[in-house]
Amino acid sequence: NTPRLVAAQPQPVHASSAPPAGDFIQLRGVCKSYGEQLVVMDNLSLDMRADDRLVIIGPSGSGKSSLLRVLMGLEGIQGGTISFQGQPYIAGGSGCGKPLHEGLRTQIGMVFQHYTLFPHLSVLGNLILAPTKVHGLSKAEASEKARAYLARLGLESKLHAYPSQLSGGQKQRVAIARALMLEPKLMLFDEVTSALDPEMVIEVQNVMLQLAEQKMAMIIVTHDMHFARHIATRVVFCAGGKVIEQGPPEQIFTQPKEARTREFLEKVL
Ligand code: ADP
Ligand code: MG
Repeated sequence: NTPRLVAAQPQPVHASSAPPAGDFIQLRGVCKSYGEQLVVMDNLSLDMRADDRLVIIGPSGSGKSSLLRVLMGLEGIQGGTISFQGQPYIAGGSGCGKPLHEGLRTQIGMVFQHYTLFPHLSVLGNLILAPTKVHGLSKAEASEKARAYLARLGLESKLHAYPSQLSGGQKQRVAIARALMLEPKLMLFDEVTSALDPEMVIEVQNVMLQLAEQKMAMIIVTHDMHFARHIATRVVFCAGGKVIEQGPPEQIFTQPKEARTREFLEKVL
């Protein structure tokens, strides 16, 4: 067989700002507003790959927390669709935000700015609550697992402590451990170090960097641009309900293309 001559295929031209395709998370035309006036997602589309660590930056009030809460199934969207791991996950008009697929929701873990540990439960109690109630693990199995996670995060000695006996940084690390107990495929972090004293910021960021090394998919909202640059595979700048610009951290932080990104970075850097 003589090889047939094939006309050279034209190379696709990628604008460097073209979002990388990714089917781990896909938002398509997502619309969300509060009341009649306040639009927080305006026909928003966003892609994420399973090996991405997206850092979302943007002005206060630009809808970053809303986006994470939607992904967590805590709030609905009015329009558009969200798929997760290639499956339909959330659809517009879902009102309260109940995901189409509860099994997918439990594969997402979230940590908030203000510690959300149950104050009346010990660290161990906090960690084993969902695994025993939701995932049907026995108390012994869940406790074993809790010990292992706490050891990884350097918190073994706090197993029987109550949240009020922990520092802010320890509470956030316990909150991360509690989310990891359910073996999420995706972790969401909403300004988890914003309320911490500086020396505790590092211990929490180190845990997140550890997760990054283990290739955990993460969406991180932070105002710490130094950390953003360090941990992100991609930085997404959102404002006015839209993705204004996204790209690798070096590009966004040193050569932002959009005037709005530059203005924002000048204020926060
Ligand atoms: P960000 O995290 O970027 O600061 P948020 O998602 O928290 O932004 O909020 C976006 C906008 O929506 C803000 O103006 C906020 O006041 C408003 N908002 C957030 N949650 C609600 C809610 N449950 N009801 C009404 N307005 C809300
Ligand atoms: Mg917020």
